[in-house]
Order: sequence, then structure tokens, then C-alpha cells
Amino acid sequence: MKEELLDNLGGEDVSFLIDTPSDRLHELKQMFSMTEAASEAERRCDAHISEIIQGFLSRNAINTNISLRLLAEKFRNSRIPEAGTAFDSYLNYLDSNVVFHSTNTSLPRFIGHMSPALPFFVRPLGKLMMALNQNLVKVETAKAASPFERQVLAMIHRLVYDLPDAFYDQHIQNREQTLGIVTSGGTLANVTALWCARNFALGPKNDFAGIENEGLPAALRFFGYSNAVIIGSHLMHYSFEKAAGVLGIGTRGVIRVPVDHKNRIVISRLKETITECRAQKKLIIALVGIAGSTETGSVDFLEEMAAIAKENNIHFHVDAAWGGPVLFSRKYRSKLTGIERADSVTIDGHKQMYLPMGIGMVLLRDPQLAGVIEKQAQYILRAGSMDLGRRALEGSRPGMSLFVHAALTILGREGYERLIDDSIRKTSYMAKAICAQPEFELLAEPEMNILVYRFIPPNLRVKTHHGKLTSADNESINETNQKLQRFQRQLGNSFVSRTALTSTVYGHEIPIVALRVVVANPLTTNADIDAVLSEQLDLANRIC
Ligand SMILES: *Cc1c(COP(=O)(O)O)cnc(C)c1O
Repeated sequence: MKEELLDNLGGEDVSFLIDTPSDRLHELKQMFSMTEAASEAERRCDAHISEIIQGFLSRNAINTNISLRLLAEKFRNSRIPEAGTAFDSYLNYLDSNVVFHSTNTSLPRFIGHMSPALPFFVRPLGKLMMALNQNLVKVETAKAASPFERQVLAMIHRLVYDLPDAFYDQHIQNREQTLGIVTSGGTLANVTALWCARNFALGPKNDFAGIENEGLPAALRFFGYSNAVIIGSHLMHYSFEKAAGVLGIGTRGVIRVPVDHKNRIVISRLKETITECRAQKKLIIALVGIAGSTETGSVDFLEEMAAIAKENNIHFHVDAAWGGPVLFSRKYRSKLTGIERADSVTIDGHKQMYLPMGIGMVLLRDPQLAGVIEKQAQYILRAGSMDLGRRALEGSRPGMSLFVHAALTILGREGYERLIDDSIRKTSYMAKAICAQPEFELLAEPEMNILVYRFIPPNLRVKTHHGKLTSADNESINETNQKLQRFQRQLGNSFVSRTALTSTVYGHEIPIVALRVVVANPLTTNADIDAVLSEQLDLANRIC
């Protein structure tokens, strides 16, 4: 056969045309195949990985105590290996160098950050998602996943806006518009929302083709603005600075209004700020309300803000990346009243929905809004198609919304409600425990399940009690708390984070260093909370 072919081609070397792979190529091709042997190899690796996962998740220390400097030394080789390595031996390498030194954020005494413990089912589902490898940028690579994701967006839209059935019937699969956009996280959800808001405010008019086509300078000139800004409170997440950078208004275009003692935006100051911006001919792209601030869990006066936004014809965005899931709770959802009047809302899946990293969502009250960011491309994003990439900042993107759908279905609204209620109950337990001990000072009444407090050294307790601390006192307390947090982190038995607040009763003289606790792990018990606090007392005694 080969000889014949060569004859016909006049003796030229055409071996490259012939499909008889070398042994190595054959071996490589096996990696992509689903033969009996390949499946057997995969099952073996699965078992090995399960073992590694079990080992990691059942470890009791949050970190190993290797220094970051030494750890970084392990990763200094930048040469690409010439020959390949067997998967099993690669897994051994990973286990001892990466997995072993990873941070176990799922421990009940890791109560410092928003990275959640995960329910078991996300791990096997992760494997399913990887195996399907759908690309949500276009329907040609995500036939079922595209309408499936639209369904997920409608479910979360209903959680936020709770509009009539007829609304959802009409819009859920209407490919000419969208109820929201799935992103890789809250940051991109916020950026996307503000991109929509900017383009809506500076859209096409008469012979002006709109900002998306003509750019910011032309748009400002056409509409007669000196500049454009985003307004929110001091506690706005830093992703709004990123948004301001990307949208071309510059980070100085992020205006941060002061907050009150409960860390909520001061409405009178907000009104003044709006008036000033108007007088200076600055376009207000959006007013941002926070539903669960990253630092303190506080919630802005959303209803008042919605009314002010409406009155002034400004886009109202609510950042509920953290706090959104409180809407599952009948008991506590009223804390977020007013969110249903927002033009756009950010919610993260990878925080209080207990899902893996990489899931953010922005929900849009008006399903037409995303039209202002819509793109087309001949080979991929066709007008009139269900291609989800038409209205997204990201291009190729995995079908992470599968996890949202699974969790909503497996836990149900009621399941989430119980988890949220339980977190809030435990937070209030911790707040009481802090108030009951003169060694500690609670820095703000918790709104949800984030707590800020600090340790007070013995010689300053009486002064603290009588509200007589000076700035110098506060500076020394700051130092102690910084050390305390660092030592506790290094010990690795428990973890709380640290922030600096300007909104405490101490006014705005100097930022107050706060220990920050996020109570969201379902497995954290009252006893864990007691243990974290008593470890702090123990460490503090050694520092002071
Ligand atoms: C976490 C958070 C963000 C950013 O979300 P990422 O998913 O980390 O990008 C934005 N806003 C708030 C209030 C957050 O808590």
C-alpha cells in the first residue's frame, strides 16, 4: 500500500502523509483517547487524586510552617522539561510541593476570609464540567450549556428582583436580551455592570455614534461633561478602582463618601456629592450601594440610594458580591430591602453560595441593558444567535454556572436559608463573647456574619471603657493587634484577618486596626469561636 502510494507520487518522500505514528506519538494520542486501557489509567489516577484530596482536607493545620521565601525556592526552575513525565509521578511531585503547603481554607477555625468550605458534590461535578469542556462564548461549542446558563441567570434574577412569572417566561430564553451575565468573579461583574452603565449614559444620539464606538473623550465633549465619576461609600470594594481604570475615567473618578458608625454611606454627604458633581459638569456613571461590605459586612441605605438615583437619573448598582445570598433567608432578607430597585446587582457564587472559585454574576433589571455592550464577530458571535459571548467582557469561558444550578437544586432555597441563618447566629454568639470580655473591644455591631473587633492591652482597658483613648493610645493598640494577627496566622491553628477602619467611634483621626472575622463555614461551632478568642488572649499575654 505504502509502496504503491510512493510509486504513484514518483518516488518523493511523502512519509509524512502516512498515518503510522511512532511509539511516542502513539503514546501521546492515548492521552486523548477513551480506550479500555486509557480509562483504566484514568481510574487509577482518580483513586490517587482522591487519596491526595482526603489527605489535604483532613489535615488540621491551616498551613505548614515553611517560610514563603523557602517555599518560593522550590519554584525557581524556568526550564521546560524536555521529555514528559508519567502522570503518577507528577502527582507525587504536586502532592509534596504544592498540595502539602496549600492553605486549608475549609477548616472550621479558618474564619478570616470569604473563601468558603465546599460541599462534597462540587468536586465530582468539577470533573464533569472539565470533561464536557463547553465553551460558553458561543452556542456552537455549548449547545445545552448556553440555554442552561440563561436559566441559572433567571433563577438568581428572581432571587433579587422577584418579578412576575410572565416576565421570566418572556425573557428567560429570549436571545435578543439577557437577564444577566456570568463572569469569573465579583470584580468582573462590577466592571461589566459599570461598562453597561457608562455606555448607557453616553449612548448614540443624533450624529454621535455612542461612547463604545467613539471613545470617552469624544463622548464627554459631545454631551458637554468635564469628566465622569462613580460614587459610593468609603467601603466600596477596590474592584471599582479597577473598573474606573478600565473604563477610562481614572481611579480619581471614584468618589468615596464617608460612612456612619455602622459603616453605611452618609446620605446627606451623598446628596452633597451629587450636587457638587452636577455643578462641576461631571457625569455620574453610577451610584454604588453595598450589600455586605467586604471589610465589615455593612449594608448601605439601599432604598434611599435607589430613590436618589432615580430622582437624579443615575444608574444604581448594588454590590452584593458577599451579601447577596442573605436573600435566601426569610428572616434576614429585609436587611437588603431596596436591592430590587437596583439597575444591576453583583453576586458571587464563590463566597456565600459555597461554590468553587471562578463564579460571579451580574443581574440586570432591564434585560435590554446589555445591548449597549453587545459585540459581533463574523466567525463566532453572530447577531441573533444565542452566543453568550456577545454580551460579555470575557471570551472563552467555562460553564461554571453548572455549579450554581446544582447547588440551588441540591440545597434548595431552604438549605441556603439554614446555612445563612446559622452563620448569622454564630456571629452574634461571637459578638456577645467579645463584649463579655474586657480584653476585647467590638468595633461595630455586626450586620451579617462579618465581625470587626480588637484586643485592648491591660493598661488601656479603663481608658477604653471610659472612651478616653488618645491617638497615641490607639497607635499602640494598633501595633499590638497587628502583631497578634500575624502570630496567630503563623501558628496555623486558627486564622482571622486584619483590616484598618476609619469609621469607628474614634472618629477619623487615625485608621483603627481591626481583627476581622468572617463566620461562614457551616462546620464552625461555638466552641471553635471560643478557641479562636482564647488563643488570641494567650498570644496577647505573651506580646504585652
Ligand atoms: C469579594 C468582593 C468583590 C470582588 O469579588 P471577586 O470575586 O473577588 O472578584 C467585590 N465586592 C465585594 C463587596 C466583595 O466582597
